[in-house]
Amino acid sequence: MCGIVGYIGKKQAAPILLEGLKKLEYRGYDSAGIAVRSGDGEVRVVKTKGRLSVLEERTKGGTLLSGTCGIGHTRWATHGEPNEENAHPHKCTDGSVTVVHNGILENYRELREKLLASGYVFRSETDTEVIVNLIDYYRKKYGQGPVDAIARFMTRARGSYAVAVLFNEFPDEIFVARKDSPMIIGAGKGEMFVASDVPAILSHTRTVYYIDNLELARIRADGIRFYNIDRRETVKQPVTVDLDERAAEKDGYEHFMMKEICEQPRAVRDTLHAYVHGGKVEFPCPLPKDVTQLVITACGSAYHVGATLQYVIESLARLPVRVELASEFRYRDPILPKGTLVVAISQSGETADTLAAVREAKARGIRTLAIVNVLSSSIAREADDVLYTYAGPEIAVATTKAYSAQLMLGYLLAVELGRLRGTVSPEDVSRYLAALEEIPERISELLNESEEIQRFAAEHVNVHDVFMIGRGVDYTVCMEGSLKLKEISYVHTEAYAAGELKHGTISLIEDGTLVVGVITQGSVAEKTASNLEEVRSRGALVVTLGFDRMQEGAFFPIPRTLEPFAASLAVVPLQLFAYYLSVQRGLDVDKPRNLAKSVTVE
Ligand code: GLU
Repeated sequence: MCGIVGYIGKKQAAPILLEGLKKLEYRGYDSAGIAVRSGDGEVRVVKTKGRLSVLEERTKGGTLLSGTCGIGHTRWATHGEPNEENAHPHKCTDGSVTVVHNGILENYRELREKLLASGYVFRSETDTEVIVNLIDYYRKKYGQGPVDAIARFMTRARGSYAVAVLFNEFPDEIFVARKDSPMIIGAGKGEMFVASDVPAILSHTRTVYYIDNLELARIRADGIRFYNIDRRETVKQPVTVDLDERAAEKDGYEHFMMKEICEQPRAVRDTLHAYVHGGKVEFPCPLPKDVTQLVITACGSAYHVGATLQYVIESLARLPVRVELASEFRYRDPILPKGTLVVAISQSGETADTLAAVREAKARGIRTLAIVNVLSSSIAREADDVLYTYAGPEIAVATTKAYSAQLMLGYLLAVELGRLRGTVSPEDVSRYLAALEEIPERISELLNESEEIQRFAAEHVNVHDVFMIGRGVDYTVCMEGSLKLKEISYVHTEAYAAGELKHGTISLIEDGTLVVGVITQGSVAEKTASNLEEVRSRGALVVTLGFDRMQEGAFFPIPRTLEPFAASLAVVPLQLFAYYLSVQRGLDVDKPRNLAKSVTVE
């Protein structure tokens, strides 16, 4: 969500900033801006509402802003509408400090009042302008230098932030600090890069310093000094990141989302092969033996993975599983008896609510296990143990391959927990692993049939309401399919447990309402089929996905697999449906309105 870049060195900063912001564009934003210090010491700011291309035009590709030090930002508005005034960078009242900020300053009202009383003037509605004025206030009041001023701001601030700061008094430096929002520094030869995420700087350097929570850094072209919030200098080692830059390119596909849908067989296979060796599941971290219940916590699609895993793990390992939205879990004083294992699932590893849930569990002495896609991300570092998915970088806002990789890793967790608990026999381990080994191929088969879905989407391009119903694992697939449709096609849809429809929702069914039934679970197949008949008799247009045709009307066959693993296949036609509907409606598939890739604010 939102992006920060910074550059200090010998080259012209503006084009580098624009290029870096472009690499972060996929994360979602509504306005953008850059600030560059020119030869006369003046920091010049250009900001615009809307796409980066507008900023590029306004600055003539950056050439209108000359200077070798600067910071840039793509904003995802939280405080104040997305307009030019609210876009970052922001300057303090007398213009001597310039800031870009990701996150939310929670106590901004109170601080704003104080600053107003001290004579500060505010030009925007953002919480960020409070930050820049507060830093300036501390700088002037205590006169102890920029690190001191930023550390005082950090002590006073509540909320989350990654900030990059320019002081007119210190023209050869960029200052950065963070809490609960990511920030890295890339080290080059005689030049340094700042970014909120690695892809922004990959084309320049792979030597990266990860700033920890409540740390700050003082960056010159030829060196970096790190400090903790007590202003004490700390020592930090760089990490060499090994990411394929091409992963962030479309490779001939029209959209990242389609590229990533098609990468699913690979993502799922890589995740499977990372942990299965010689017919056994081998995790780098042993699972705790005395675990008595699992609490899976996540947001969005990762929550749907959790919902699927609740069925799968309870069925295979006979272990109680609770699934909780991380945003609820963190505030509801959950009961977590000893023996609970909290499993946090997040693609980015930066999801603010999920990170907070991990911290909440740890604070109560409960063991945490992260399932994360991005190496060294905050959740990966803070959880007691981490299992990585191997989806590769995911760019499209609507997740597909990371979701599928999470499912695969979750199945392995179910099999291994079952083996440890004696509910899955050695023969069953082999049977399950053999079935999982076939999943990538089955996904490819589904992808080969995508034209059918494309045709179906074309026929329903003007659809208004879609209901998706299923039971058990099928219900959880519906949750994910419905979310995809909302995210990128802006269609009103509801996922319903098929048996629940008659308790209210069926009153919404009218002539022509599209109802998608997912039927892969044998024990409840006929029940869902009956529920589909009920809606058909009330005028609904019914379409079914399943192993076998059980219905009149449109039917999309799902290749056969073991029932617990059916979500991995049944979701694919739903992803494709959302994709084609979005394309046919002329929408921005990869950057849907109002959404951001990794939600680093609450
Ligand atoms: N809260 C800040 C604003 O509304 C920063 C939002 C962001 O992270 O982009 O401007």
